[in-house]
Amino acid sequence: MKRIFCKRILWICLMIFITAKSSGQKSDSLRLEKSTEHFNFYSTTKDANVLDTLALVLENNYAKITGHLGITLDKKTTVKVFPDLTSFHKAINTPDAPDWVVGSCMNNELLMVSPLNPGSVHTFSSLLQVIVHEFAHLAVFYALDEKGISTLPQWLSEGFAQYEAGQINDHIKRIVVSGFKKTAPPTWEQLSSASMLEFGQMNGYAISVTIVEFLVNTYGMEKLVALLKAPEHIETIYGLSQENLEKQWIQYLGMN
Ligand SMILES: [Zn+2]
Repeated sequence: MKRIFCKRILWICLMIFITAKSSGQKSDSLRLEKSTEHFNFYSTTKDANVLDTLALVLENNYAKITGHLGITLDKKTTVKVFPDLTSFHKAINTPDAPDWVVGSCMNNELLMVSPLNPGSVHTFSSLLQVIVHEFAHLAVFYALDEKGISTLPQWLSEGFAQYEAGQINDHIKRIVVSGFKKTAPPTWEQLSSASMLEFGQMNGYAISVTIVEFLVNTYGMEKLVALLKAPEHIETIYGLSQENLEKQWIQYLGMN
């Protein structure tokens, strides 16, 4: 039962930036198959069929995400599409990763499993959202520059990526709310301190995007971007304590 629940609402990525070392040879079977204004796509010949769709989705979201963050990227972003989960998990140095790990942002590149072979948890269409999610992480990485993305609370990082990728809808919100009726909502601090796996298991991805949606719908994107750049100044940015914001978020979800 729990597994079905996770399948329906869980998205996950691994953010591994410059400090991570790629295993190298796992990309050998991929070659440059398509180039667009802002992206270079590497895949097997078989997966080249899906690149037009991926390119369209990424290019359609490019201006929105970079515009929100106020950044300009001076080079094309590399996108590597792996033919199956096994080769993808090897490439991100986590060969034992569960099937729901399908996208990553590593060494300034976007990596994903092919939407044509998404594994047991994801679908063709959810993979199209995953790659936008990963690009949002990459864009935040550039927006934060030398400050580094590691300072970001997990809920903010994942919530923003999900929000920009459109990974929120009424169904997800209903599941989050019904989960809170069984288990009390986590504090934002608890979401931040959870390990990656704990975060996934506590439904952290879906919960986090409801927080970001609340902040954007209530206070606007400009403040959210200010928060991404200086999360330690949350009280100054919103003029409220985090505790009060958390209460407003619960009210926003219609829980009381
Ligand atoms: Zn993510």
